[in-house]
Amino acid sequence: MATEKEIVVSGIRPTGYLHLGNYFGAIRNYIRMQEDFNCYFFVADWHSLTTHPNPKDLQGNVMRVLAENIASGLDPEKVTLYAQSDIAEIPELYLLMNMLAYVGELEKVPTFKDKVRLQPQNVNAGLLTYPVLMSVDILIQRAVKVPVGKDQGQHLEMARNFAQRFNRRYDTDLFPEPEAFNYGDSLVRIPSLDGSGKMSKSENEMATLYLADDDDKIRNKIKKAKTDSAAVTPGTPMPESVQNLVDLMKLVSAPDVVQFYEAAWDNQTIRFGDMKKQLGEDMVNFIAPIREKAKDLQQDTDYLRKIMKAGAEKARANAAQTLQQARKLIGLNYY
Ligand code: ATP
Ligand code: MG
Repeated sequence: MATEKEIVVSGIRPTGYLHLGNYFGAIRNYIRMQEDFNCYFFVADWHSLTTHPNPKDLQGNVMRVLAENIASGLDPEKVTLYAQSDIAEIPELYLLMNMLAYVGELEKVPTFKDKVRLQPQNVNAGLLTYPVLMSVDILIQRAVKVPVGKDQGQHLEMARNFAQRFNRRYDTDLFPEPEAFNYGDSLVRIPSLDGSGKMSKSENEMATLYLADDDDKIRNKIKKAKTDSAAVTPGTPMPESVQNLVDLMKLVSAPDVVQFYEAAWDNQTIRFGDMKKQLGEDMVNFIAPIREKAKDLQQDTDYLRKIMKAGAEKARANAAQTLQQARKLIGLNYY
């Protein structure tokens, strides 16, 4: 009998346009994982309400995130793609798990403290219990692996804690303790175009390349990217801004092109205008097919809905088994 593939869960918040950092930091790994694991990938619409509660944007954002993931190479035949809010079992387990979460530990979570600083006028209870809901997203599917970026280690630690606490209190092994997973070479950080920091949804728009950017926008953003062009002696290490452009080239340009510009830096014959033109064209060739496919998919809302529905059915069936066992262990099985 073939061994069953291990279960992986990951979620994406539908809070804005996906960018090159999301692609290389997350989606590219999803595409590799879909071959190796039993993947449950969801659009975290409930999570988005803690910070982006605008009904006007929600559906469009959810559909676009789905379309951009599929256009990037996620295969709905291979992975279970669903909306978090379609899984009615999640809030029930969330309620049960809240009984095992301490207010003190939730208040200490760094991302909660960040949010208190960022939106002092809206410190909702959802923000505080975010790690509980996130843990339940993972635990309810009995995932053993979770792909996490560099910034998300602490949340996974909490999911492990909740799994452990539940298992101890009810003397069970219902919840595996999920482990962080990354392909060895996959922890990349995509730099922003303004010389420092990383590309991000909430950063300066001109410094981030979105999967939805049109060709001229891509060229223009790269043309305006920061380069410190002060003359230096040959052999000087690259300043961060130049290194960032070379790093982007490594992702989308041919190896001999990268070598050419690295050598040109070393002997100080580099022409930044040419380099940016080259990077601009290579970036257009990389992003345009994803953008066009995503555009087509977004027109086909029937298709996207069909995928969400099928994904939700499968995710619910798996979640229902977990919830049923949890209820029984707690003593909530009257009939
Ligand atoms: P926000 O600005 O709202 O935090 P974001 O652009 O940082 O948004 P997230 O939704 O926080 O995006 O992250 C989604 C996924 O993309 C995570 O796995 C994260 O590690 C990854 N990611 C985001 N930005 C980058 C980046 N610049 N380089 C590599 N990975 C990234
Ligand atoms: Mg982020």
